[in-house]
Amino acid sequence: MSEESGFDRFGLHPDVLDGLAAMGFKKPSPVQEQAIPLVLEGKDLIACAQTGTGKTAAFVLPLIDHLISHEKRHLSALILTPTRELALQIDQQIEGLSYYSPISSIPIYGGGDGALWDQQHKALRQGADLVVATPGRLWSFMATGNFNFDSLRYLVLDEADRMLDMGFLEDIMRIVARLPKDRQTLMFSATMPDRIRQLAGSILRDPAQVSIAVSRPADKIEQMAFKVMDPHKLQVLTALLAEFPFRSALIFCSSKDKVKQLHQTLRKAGVMNEAFHSDLDQSARETLMRAFKAGRLPVLVGTDVLSRGIDVDNIDLVINYDVPPDPEDYVHRIGRTGRAERNGRSMTMVNPMDLRRWKRIEELVGRSLPWTERPLCGWTESPANSAGSGENRGGRPHRKPGYRPNRTKK
Ligand code: AMP
Repeated sequence: MSEESGFDRFGLHPDVLDGLAAMGFKKPSPVQEQAIPLVLEGKDLIACAQTGTGKTAAFVLPLIDHLISHEKRHLSALILTPTRELALQIDQQIEGLSYYSPISSIPIYGGGDGALWDQQHKALRQGADLVVATPGRLWSFMATGNFNFDSLRYLVLDEADRMLDMGFLEDIMRIVARLPKDRQTLMFSATMPDRIRQLAGSILRDPAQVSIAVSRPADKIEQMAFKVMDPHKLQVLTALLAEFPFRSALIFCSSKDKVKQLHQTLRKAGVMNEAFHSDLDQSARETLMRAFKAGRLPVLVGTDVLSRGIDVDNIDLVINYDVPPDPEDYVHRIGRTGRAERNGRSMTMVNPMDLRRWKRIEELVGRSLPWTERPLCGWTESPANSAGSGENRGGRPHRKPGYRPNRTKK
């Protein structure tokens, strides 16, 4: 029984409306509002929307709706996505939204052991209706020639910019070359640089366009920034964690070595946390993610591996222990909070070397982000440090934190 919902106007199949009710989605998000009618109409689509906007359901809902009416559904839709975490999340969303529909899906992603390979290979040959795959792994299977996508009708490229950043262009093009030309293609990307437009030009046909909040963080996220010298970061971090109440927090570091170190140090300081990075195998990642989602693990410390592949709604705090080199990553990191109409808070620790990066972030988010003053940050307003959100003037290297010039003349 489908309840009256804001989704009624799309004319979706009652089974899909029941799935929506079961998932608790009452009102379409802006990207859903715009994209769903276009996809239902059968148009190719290029959509600029970041994670957290509800973009997954924007393509999953009309796909399920289309597939319900097909008799032959075997391998008829393919969703390409950059990471295994995203593949799993999309697959879970399909499972939820198609709970009342006769639609099957499989996630295909790399890593794991030979048993996982065999299981995924078998699933592809025997067939699910919808395949959600990372490009590298899918291509490894397609190269075996044991199955084909001859009956494919729908192709989705999810987080296209990220897939290109991760070097998947060649795999994507090889996969697309083996798909039927007569299909509907949808492309979702958080940003629309030229290379994405070129990719769109080569694989989409006369696409409709939808653009949502061009790579800007949701307004509901309170973005705080602190000027902190590296040796003071830990002290400031533990004080912030104690001061600002949270249920679930993510802490991002620039490298997995830093993640491992911070994880241990926080643990010794009594902060219950786990480290999430690319050295962990898939089952370890899933175990951590389950504990985090269930609220049994309050803090995850991770690299940017975490920033894309996590679909948890109740994260209230994201901390950038380091400023990410790429401003887009900042948006993705803090986009883990403030999801699904909830409020969130992000905190970024900026050292003098990061001022230039911080300025680029401000440019991307489209406004200046004021500093929050903190004691014990170790930051003195030396000319090099005081360039507002500016530069390392004159290109001179900043002093190393803790460096004291030796005043004794030789
Ligand atoms: P996404 O941008 O696809 O990663 O979605 C962000 C989060 O919003 C996911 O946890 C979805 O389950 C949730 N979500 C998507 N659409 C809706 C909706 N219409 N109402 C409530 N929650 C939604």
